[in-house]
Amino acid sequence: MDVTLLGTGDATGVPAALCDCEYCVGSAPRLRPAVLVEHDDTTVVLDVGPDLCDQLQRTDTYSVDAFFLTHFHRDHADGLLELLQTLRTGTEAAWNEDRDGHAFDLYMTETATEHLRDSFAYFLDTLDPQWDPDGTTVGGLAVDSFPVEHMRPEYETVGFLVRNGDSVLAYAPDMATFVGEPPTTDVDLFVCEGSPVVGGSHGTVEELRAAVDAVDADRTVLVNATEHGRREHTEELAARAREFGCELGADFDEYTLS
Ligand SMILES: [Zn+2]
Ligand SMILES: [Zn+2]
Repeated sequence: MDVTLLGTGDATGVPAALCDCEYCVGSAPRLRPAVLVEHDDTTVVLDVGPDLCDQLQRTDTYSVDAFFLTHFHRDHADGLLELLQTLRTGTEAAWNEDRDGHAFDLYMTETATEHLRDSFAYFLDTLDPQWDPDGTTVGGLAVDSFPVEHMRPEYETVGFLVRNGDSVLAYAPDMATFVGEPPTTDVDLFVCEGSPVVGGSHGTVEELRAAVDAVDADRTVLVNATEHGRREHTEELAARAREFGCELGADFDEYTLS
């Protein structure tokens, strides 16, 4: 199972719009959070933020079986417009295969679908979001959700466990704490919101410590990082992550879980 970090920034991203501070100018870009998971012929993308088109193009990703949203905040959901337009105009693969209907599935909680109905109801007929609280199997990948605390109850935010055999990815890019039991199933790689250590305003150091210790993954990579917001250089964020016993994520870093 191959995992690529498509974005490791916060809602602002690095560089921030209109900013030429030394941290924006001196840092590698950080797109908004998302993860690409590939196994054999199966491809899944977790989160559909405003950088989606760039993220898919940069990784030569032209076929996705399913997209999953953690929650309906714009830095995780604005790419739904890109998906809508792609379905309306088609793609090279769709034209060649003369596909009808959906080229991919879209999974988001029923609460998130309600938010979409409230804001862009015309998206729904085309995108046709689905949700199964008991989890979903996409090709060779089992995708389960777990609830996390992040602006509940208005936003029913979840994280995802993606499994293939013994390979397990946990992804929770926006979270303060787990709601209920944490996903402790022999996680190989935990891609975790690291705001209290490397980012902005969500959660506390103590909450992050408890979450990281509870999952006890082989590797924990902190995302939701921002040089711009913290006014610190990447090396300083990386050192802070290391002191915490974790790694600092970087856009397009790849991990092979076996
Ligand atoms: Zn800046
Ligand atoms: Zn959020």
